[in-house]
Amino acid sequence: MRVVSTFSEARSAATEVYHRSGGEEGPAAIGLVPTMGFLHEGHLSLISQARRECRVVTMSLYVNPRQFNVSSDFDRYPRSFERDSQLAAQAGVDVLFAPSTSEMYEPSESTSIQPGRVARTMEGPGRPGHFEGVALVVTKLLAGLGAQKAYFGRKDAQQLTMIRRMARDLRFPIEIVGCPTIRESDGLALSSRNVLMSAQEREAALEISRGLWAAALAAEGGERSAEGLCREVTASGDRVAWEYVELADQDDASLLDTLDRPSFLAAAASVGKVRLIDNLFFDTRGGHLAVDRGIVLESPSLLYR
Ligand code: AMP
Repeated sequence: MRVVSTFSEARSAATEVYHRSGGEEGPAAIGLVPTMGFLHEGHLSLISQARRECRVVTMSLYVNPRQFNVSSDFDRYPRSFERDSQLAAQAGVDVLFAPSTSEMYEPSESTSIQPGRVARTMEGPGRPGHFEGVALVVTKLLAGLGAQKAYFGRKDAQQLTMIRRMARDLRFPIEIVGCPTIRESDGLALSSRNVLMSAQEREAALEISRGLWAAALAAEGGERSAEGLCREVTASGDRVAWEYVELADQDDASLLDTLDRPSFLAAAASVGKVRLIDNLFFDTRGGHLAVDRGIVLESPSLLYR
């Protein structure tokens, strides 16, 4: 694995690996997996999907200050370059791009990206500037690293919707691939922030996935009203501080009253100082409802190793 810190080195390293690997065949040359590090099985699943579908896998590792609207959250965000580079190499990453903030942003720059209406619901109002920060950094990565495919988790459902929309609106010649949410063995969605919780907080946090599970069963039993589904989620308990629970359109993140199209049921809640998000995806193709609850690990996550 090559470790590089500039956009131009990352492009040359990926091109070199591509040519060394024989080039030509295969649907995609370079697959990109953007991350903020402190890797867990969620990130590794994106890497393995990219590994299967692309000749070269570039992973970016950058804790983007512009997408944190609370500076203490940025300061507390877990970081360990040694750990991440070992895990990335084991998972089959070819190029690890770990830029400095001066490589990512120039003091003189003036361009911003406004994601528009997809950023006005759920995560948008409560985290001013968050999606603009994500949009800017993802645009730089999509434009600057030469990938043909980029992999993002369904765990961040609204972010995935926003990135798909942006790549389409801006005509990026890149396929955005959404990958299932990976969960710890008790159902808690994997997040680098999980290591910041105490044992009691972690136990309380299970209310989120349990609530979503209850809503999944209700949907499979015929419940179609957003109100009914959201009520199932929050009925799981009040040890977490619920911020929102909403049913939203997969296409534009607009809020829905009825489950009648591809959508996701998204929840945000805080436990102590840690804010968590989770969701279920509903697919409705062919008139049948399919609920994507993600994938549950069989053993404890590598986050705790
Ligand atoms: P992050 O490092 O948290 O910014 O996440 C980097 C990428 O990994 C994003 O596309 C996330 O949606 C994805 N991701 C984070 N957690 C999970 C998870 N539990 N399952 C699947 N993908 C995830």
